[in-house]
Amino acid sequence: MASAETAPSNRVTLPNTIRPTHYSVSITTNIGGEFKYHGSVDIKIEVTESTAEVILNVNEVDISSASITLTSLKAEETYTATSITSDAKTERATIKFPQPLPKGARGVLNLKFTGLHNDKMAGFYRSSFENPKGEKVWMVATQFEPTDARRAFPCWDEPALKATFDVTLYVPEDLVALSNMNVVEETIVEVSSSDDKGPRGKGPEGQKGPEGKKGPEGQKGPEAQKGPESQKGPEARKGPEGQKGPEGQKGPQAAESHASGPAPAPRRLKKVVFATTPIMSTYLLAFVVGPLSHLSTTSRPKKPLHPATQTPPPPVEIRVYAPTHQIDQAKFALDVAARTIEFFSEYFDVEYPLPKLDMVAIPDFGAGAMENWGLVTYRAVYMLYDEEKSSARAKENVAYVVGHELAHQWFGNLVTMEWWQDLWLNEGFATFVGWLAVDHLFPSWDVWTKFAAEDLQVALRLDGLRSSHPVEVPIADAADINQIFDAISYSKGASVIRMLEGYVGREGFMEGVRKYLKKHAYGNTVTDQLWEALGEATGKDVGEMMKRWTRQTGYPLITVKEDTAGSLTVSQSRYLSTGDVLPADDTTDWFVPLGLITSASDTGPSSDVLHARQSQVSVPGNVSFYKLNGRQTAFYRVKYGVDQLANLGKHISELSASDRVGLVADAFALAQAGYGSTVGALELVKYFGAEEDFVVLQEISTRLDAISATWYNEPQDVVDGLKKLSLRVFSRHAKALGWDYPSTEKTNHLLSLKRTLSLGVAGRSGDATTVAEARTRFAKFSSGDASALDPSVRGTAYAVVLRTSQNAEEAKKDFEAVLKVYKTAETVDGRLSALAALGSTGDKDLVEKVLAMALDGEVVKAQDVIYVLRGVAKDNANPKYAQARLWKWVQENWESLVERFKVTSGLLGAIVQYAVDGSASTAVTAELEAFVSGEGLSPEAKAKRIEETKGITMTVKQTVEKVKANAKWLERERDAVAAWIRKEFPQ
Ligand SMILES: [Zn+2]
Repeated sequence: MASAETAPSNRVTLPNTIRPTHYSVSITTNIGGEFKYHGSVDIKIEVTESTAEVILNVNEVDISSASITLTSLKAEETYTATSITSDAKTERATIKFPQPLPKGARGVLNLKFTGLHNDKMAGFYRSSFENPKGEKVWMVATQFEPTDARRAFPCWDEPALKATFDVTLYVPEDLVALSNMNVVEETIVEVSSSDDKGPRGKGPEGQKGPEGKKGPEGQKGPEAQKGPESQKGPEARKGPEGQKGPEGQKGPQAAESHASGPAPAPRRLKKVVFATTPIMSTYLLAFVVGPLSHLSTTSRPKKPLHPATQTPPPPVEIRVYAPTHQIDQAKFALDVAARTIEFFSEYFDVEYPLPKLDMVAIPDFGAGAMENWGLVTYRAVYMLYDEEKSSARAKENVAYVVGHELAHQWFGNLVTMEWWQDLWLNEGFATFVGWLAVDHLFPSWDVWTKFAAEDLQVALRLDGLRSSHPVEVPIADAADINQIFDAISYSKGASVIRMLEGYVGREGFMEGVRKYLKKHAYGNTVTDQLWEALGEATGKDVGEMMKRWTRQTGYPLITVKEDTAGSLTVSQSRYLSTGDVLPADDTTDWFVPLGLITSASDTGPSSDVLHARQSQVSVPGNVSFYKLNGRQTAFYRVKYGVDQLANLGKHISELSASDRVGLVADAFALAQAGYGSTVGALELVKYFGAEEDFVVLQEISTRLDAISATWYNEPQDVVDGLKKLSLRVFSRHAKALGWDYPSTEKTNHLLSLKRTLSLGVAGRSGDATTVAEARTRFAKFSSGDASALDPSVRGTAYAVVLRTSQNAEEAKKDFEAVLKVYKTAETVDGRLSALAALGSTGDKDLVEKVLAMALDGEVVKAQDVIYVLRGVAKDNANPKYAQARLWKWVQENWESLVERFKVTSGLLGAIVQYAVDGSASTAVTAELEAFVSGEGLSPEAKAKRIEETKGITMTVKQTVEKVKANAKWLERERDAVAAWIRKEFPQ
């Protein structure tokens, strides 16, 4: 039914004339100087349609020569290209040959090229960190997904065009070089610097060099470095020191200067050859070169047993890499990785497909992490964690991100989506099983309640907009791909998979996934092929159920009405955050697992399904309460009558934490959209007076914050009344928990999170005791007493202190103290919590200082700008001023923001969103729409603006819709909320 819009023929793909089967890529890195590098690639091809031109992807890479050697003819023939042209817009190169390559011919295409280790966090880019001596140290790393392998070397850069890869890197002698596979050869070679094309230019013999030059490391390969000794020994820790060696620093720069100088001297480089990869997609290839140290361990999966011998699979060597001064902080991620590989080997019943797994913390990283096969790269804060110095939240983030990326090693890497339309298949699934792995490793964290409060709600929020998109989204052009790495692909994807798992049962689901992976290993798939396998395993028509959830935008609102005793009428209609559903919006009958629970149910949620628009459901007699969507595993919202809701409130202690989260979330979301009343939702909170569960409290806080964030411009007594309402819930917890973390509590993850939450809410809402204690403890902490603030409450304390400075002088002093923490903290999460808090200052001059910092790459890395702006947007002491200022600032500094973020458009979208989405003002959305469409600009400037914003069109539309919905909410509920607040909190 969606075939017309999803037809492959609409896709902008490379012509189907040539198919690559194997790449031998060789790159001479150039770390320092101009960062320009040279490379060469031999691509084995098959000609599928006769053609005289070869068209492949390339972006900001210059191909200097091209030839093709046909090997399948009677005599081997080599043709040199007659022309090489490239088109920056389509990111393609066209290489013409003097005569057509006949259909069925095989051969090797040889291309020589130059590229740039750019500073845009895409392709084969440069990254830097400061070593403990304060020196800036460079490294290079790759980020190819979705379409930036072509930014590193010429290739057929589409996920379905899988091939095998041989990678050879020439790097400074002292640096570590990593790729997807294990090292098979390391040799020191001398390279003539006058020929800056690298050793490749000398021909294959020259590359290898005399045997005598092979270092002992190179001969032994990576095995030699293995083992507990090397983890701790000085060799393993080598890194920044090593880079200071003459080659490390002078090498590349010398090459640059010698390239134009008269007397070139040869430079020594380390040639590193990696084993051939299995067949895989280009976006999963990876290289990392830098002054890194490592720790290692061995993962020992017990399953799957070898069918013939009944022996377990071989152990997997796992290493984590980071700058030397941070390597100890990689220990937790290493342990989690080893246990997670064991978990997934068993869950998928397929052994880990590669001989090794490396994970690297990269100092500059656009996304959160990247699942490159066998070489997973991370934003440092998602891999590094210090048991003594990091927060509880940082620990959870690392555990989850590792779980998610390692799930991809099977689901995504071994079996890959055919095209980006099915990106969700990768991301939704990895999100779901990523949490499954965390739940397995840390059962006390109660991650599924957290999921119901976080992923599920984020997805319901976005998918309630008309400007949302289907999970399976037609993607015609590569330019649109970046926009779908969003909450629909990840969180809605994971939510509907979780709903399916709940419906078919855990065992059947796992069985289906195993079938799917075995059947499609090393291949490409579309969504229906997963449904087929799950259908075979469970005997259910999974595709029929799921297509409504994945091929269409949105989800239903289930309305429950009591009939006569013992019967309910449940009906479904489209849910919209704007509440203004038109007949054209509401054409789908979803397949809705009702999950009825009652006071009498002892076997979990019922298996009733609503297929039609409306249906009757019987409820056992004499039950004291009932609720739909038991355990909150399904993807919809529920509307109860006022009396039904009040009755659920009375029985709140009999519901699970997930059900309590769902009740709060639905009541407030319905109020916000206009399906229910905000006062009704606020009244519901009164039933949670004895609530102790962290996640439920977090949900209440999130919902009250949403009102405060929309009501920020209302009369002061209403704004203050909303704070008092938060204090009514949280003062008790802040007081009971306090700021000290007894050592016995170190392992109680949820209690630690509850303390952070409670102190944060109490402090933000002006609780005098909490504020005073935060200031006292921060003063001690800043003067060197680290024990005054536990890592989990430091960020909270910084924000409270900055929000409560009494005058300009004190504000400056407080600001400088937090800034110092940002500059000197020993952990990445410790630095970021200080950076994120800086935007809380209510002082206008300091807000300017924060914003100026966000533009200064020497102070705030591009990857971290969003933390700064989020602080200004969401947590400023003076939101009336800060909101307006931030939006103006984005417009004033548009040119430099575009320059910095044009490649990582997701970050640019986030910046625009933060600048506008708290405004609750249609005047501001009108400004945003005028701004992105270039209204009032000259035709040239207008065209430029449209080009600059084409990567964020979806974010802009969603932001506008969301703000308009909030403006309507405020308009509709302003008086009722003010009256309720004044009644509850009389002056
Ligand atoms: Zn992912």
